[in-house]
Amino acid sequence: MIRRLPSQLVNQIAAGEVVERPASVCKELLENSLDAGARQLDVDVERGGLRLVRVRDDGDGIPASELALALDRHATSKIATLADLEGVHSLGFRGEALPSIASVSRLRLVSRTAGDEHGWAVEGPAGQDPVPAPHPPGTTVEVRDLFHNTPARRKFMRTERTEFGHLERVVRQTALARFDVGVRLRHNERGMLELPAATTPGERSARLETLLGAAFADNALGIEYAAAGLSLRGWIGLPTFSRSQGDLQFFFVNGRMVRDRLIAHAVRQAYQDVLFHGRHPAYVLYLEMPPAGVDVNVHPAKHEVRFRDSRTVHDFLFRTIERAIAAAGTERPAGGTPARAVSPAHAGNRAPARAETGALQASMRFQEPHPGPGPAIGAGAGTQVAEAAPDAQAPPLGYALAQLHGVYILAQNARGLVLVDMHAAHERITYERLKRAVEQGGAGAQPLLVPVSVALTRAEADLVEAEQDALARLGFELSRAGPESVLVRGLPAPLREADANALLRDVVADLARHGRSSRVRERVNEVLATAACHGSVRANRRLTRAEMDALLREMERTENSGQCNHGRPTWTELEMAALDRLFLRGQ
Ligand code: ADP
Ligand code: MG
Repeated sequence: MIRRLPSQLVNQIAAGEVVERPASVCKELLENSLDAGARQLDVDVERGGLRLVRVRDDGDGIPASELALALDRHATSKIATLADLEGVHSLGFRGEALPSIASVSRLRLVSRTAGDEHGWAVEGPAGQDPVPAPHPPGTTVEVRDLFHNTPARRKFMRTERTEFGHLERVVRQTALARFDVGVRLRHNERGMLELPAATTPGERSARLETLLGAAFADNALGIEYAAAGLSLRGWIGLPTFSRSQGDLQFFFVNGRMVRDRLIAHAVRQAYQDVLFHGRHPAYVLYLEMPPAGVDVNVHPAKHEVRFRDSRTVHDFLFRTIERAIAAAGTERPAGGTPARAVSPAHAGNRAPARAETGALQASMRFQEPHPGPGPAIGAGAGTQVAEAAPDAQAPPLGYALAQLHGVYILAQNARGLVLVDMHAAHERITYERLKRAVEQGGAGAQPLLVPVSVALTRAEADLVEAEQDALARLGFELSRAGPESVLVRGLPAPLREADANALLRDVVADLARHGRSSRVRERVNEVLATAACHGSVRANRRLTRAEMDALLREMERTENSGQCNHGRPTWTELEMAALDRLFLRGQ
């Protein structure tokens, strides 16, 4: 039997798409407030939003005669025709959010327009007649007991803390989207975020710092560029501020936060040569373009968009960001050679070596700077090894001959030429050493002469505090120094020379990603791998031949030394026959 579903059920079904958790309620309400021209947003939350999400704004308000309609399905003031949809400037347009939310919660809507003498209130789900209620001009939507009537959905809710985390992220995104609007967030009557509207450059950077941390603000480049009807502005993190996860990536298209594959790809490509594989850039970017060029109606919660001319958008993003990074690279003074001015934190700038063939090219190029009768590989190496050891007893990785461009060690073994990626090899060794130390009951801590204070977000600092004991077993001596900072007093001994600031930030990101529930072992290994990366030899450091030989011997002793912690090979070998072929010898 076919029958028409009651409207309450239809709305509940729609809610399944739009209202996933308290954070999605908050997102819809904030969007409505911004669409109404609000200058101030006040968000009150109880129990992670499961008991209450209340958003109050000072926007245009809803006339009493339309209040009930606002709760009706497919009722919207934002579009009237298909043409409107194609040029939509508002964040909402589907007319679905309020009825959907009202169908799975106890919703109360109070609003007052500028001309009204007092406010009017209605309660969901069905639209009864509005009753007078005190309210300043603007609107308050109060959503209580989310999913009280849909137990199946309720079961999917996580802890209060997790739900609040999602909701807070939504509020922070909104605050990033609109610097000109004041934002306040309270949880269980406690103030969590208080951001006055930011209009001057100083106020703007203060807000950026509050939302993304001082470290980002200190390590970000402002960019602003427009061409062909597209404009991109915002901040991109320097390559040295890369992260072990993509948690500091915010992209807004015409004021709407989106996660989009095309955008992510363009940004990643722009960073490709300066960021090592597995590292993520940090950015907050705003793309503005004519609404007709982007379809926002492809996702019920509008997390995704579709660009009419995606190729152009992709290239525009890629070029603009790439150029900004390159310009930063030449401006900034750096310790190394100019070519490495923008060297990534972990890998040295050596894009061509990433592929196997890159290594081969590098080995071929080695010969170019040695014109004339100088030491060609064969000749020079021969004498070297003759005095070092007879071939039969040569260790597997041989003996070092030289260092190439501060990146590779060249060595000769019984079979031919060995090329070692210095940084990757050292990283592997450090990792295994740390792991052994931890297995034997804890890596010793090496106190720092001068403790280092590290700025984190409040949530990150909380996490560090919660994991303090586990971190202490790894050799991190830490203490909370303030709501958003942690003091590092000691580092694991094998990492004593690492940059405490960068190391801690990455370790915290690892912890955050794995959450407390994950297996301890996994978490520890991840942290160790990250830590090892910081403790290893930077590219560009000159090593004496004795130091290089010591590294080779250590590699031979170390488990899994053939691969670094990211799975890249640490060394490769070119046999004499392969070298001969390069010279077409014996053919
Ligand atoms: P949509 O935003 O897609 O139009 P909603 O269900 O979210 O649909 O809202 C329905 C209508 O209620 C909106 O079109 C708007 O006219 C009105 N409305 C909702 N929230 C507010 C608010 N905070 N201030 C003013 N009007 C609002
Ligand atoms: Mg809406």
